[in-house]
Amino acid sequence: MNNKNIIPTVNPDEIFRIMQEDAVNATIPTGWNQGAMPCDSKENISLTSLKLHCTKCNINTAGVYKHPTDTERRCPACDSLLMYCPACRHAVSATEKFSILLCDRCQTDYVTNLTVEYLASRDRSSREIILSGIRATGALHLGIYLGAIRQFVEYELGDNLCMYFIADWHTLTTCHDPRKVSSNTIAVAMDYLAAGLNPERSIIYAQSSVPEIAELALCLSMIQSKNKLEDLPTVKDMVRSGETMSMGHLQYPVLMAADILGPKATLVPVGSDQIPNVELARDLADKFNRQFGQTFTIPRVGLRTIKIPGFKGEKMGEPTDESGISLQDHLEDISDKYARFGITDAGRKTRNDPGNPDNCVSVYPVYKVLRENKPDALQIVERECLSGTRGCKECKLELAREIDELISPFRERRAVLMNQQKYVEEILHYGGMKAREIVRHTLEEVREKMGIVSF
Ligand code: SF4
Repeated sequence: MNNKNIIPTVNPDEIFRIMQEDAVNATIPTGWNQGAMPCDSKENISLTSLKLHCTKCNINTAGVYKHPTDTERRCPACDSLLMYCPACRHAVSATEKFSILLCDRCQTDYVTNLTVEYLASRDRSSREIILSGIRATGALHLGIYLGAIRQFVEYELGDNLCMYFIADWHTLTTCHDPRKVSSNTIAVAMDYLAAGLNPERSIIYAQSSVPEIAELALCLSMIQSKNKLEDLPTVKDMVRSGETMSMGHLQYPVLMAADILGPKATLVPVGSDQIPNVELARDLADKFNRQFGQTFTIPRVGLRTIKIPGFKGEKMGEPTDESGISLQDHLEDISDKYARFGITDAGRKTRNDPGNPDNCVSVYPVYKVLRENKPDALQIVERECLSGTRGCKECKLELAREIDELISPFRERRAVLMNQQKYVEEILHYGGMKAREIVRHTLEEVREKMGIVSF
């Protein structure tokens, strides 16, 4: 985790030059094919250099590189991954972590050519490139777990390239407390992992780890009309509320477009409130393609249909006491919140009054989601509510137990991750490197097409 802000992509020419130097001085290990040497010289070979020795088993590995573009091979003796490290120029053994190579000698990490090819080939062969993000505003709640993250995990099981990020830049539109922004970024990453996302399958990263996204947003903003931004429902709501709007807030949808278009996402799962923003990204992609030539994929909206109401029937939001269930709540917290704040069927005055589940504001709609695949169990709630044989108090308690059972595995994994912050930071670091490598190619294309030259 050394080079946090740079991606030291291996330069194959440099490697080949050093390999040739080294090969001259290398002994060809018994059983190796001489033809595999990266240098034609087979005379006067002696073991005077340790540059290409596997740091794990100390076997000379000069002969395993067959082509100047080779950056990754396996040691024929111990089968560990090999890499010629341009930083320490010695190590040839590397550990693979989340498809990034970590030099065993100097611990520098690399996005190698093969990693990029691997990511690119996944792009080509995957059914979808799925992208979604969550703002780092606080502990996740039940609504976002059932409505979004459970779906993220399902996407991961298919042959998709999944990119899930923590939108820390977007968080700055409403939160200027640096400690909160940074700690919530880690917290959301922990939530992703506790919910079951697999960092070996998905690219999990913080939005700010990919500065290319900010530059792409700047380029896109040049073809985005200000009037259209001001027409977006979220912006209009803010203007109506009389709150002061920052430039960052107005620019939010363009930054979101860069999040989506940078990796050329094909499917963007969002809630209905975010549809206008994805539409704006689609329009921007289309406009850019027509003006500068085919560059962006037009993404599709993957509408999230599961909605979990808060206690008053509103969309479940921040898990403050009066609006939602945190994924870290225990049974006592959940049952207490429903008992105190959960609004049911206002028409029921006493325990034995017949009720109507369709008028139940905050309890029955959650049963409907949780028992989606258990129609018989759902019917019991309906029947007993309609007949007045089920009181709202016990109905809430039963729901609290069901929620507790659902989120307890999350809670346990989350508690373990709390003590593994370094591991979580590592996942974000490597995820950021991979995401950068993907977005970098798009940005280079955009820069070139817009006439921005690197000097
Ligand atoms: S019995 Fe259950 S479903 Fe019926 S109104 Fe009360 S809480 Fe809602």
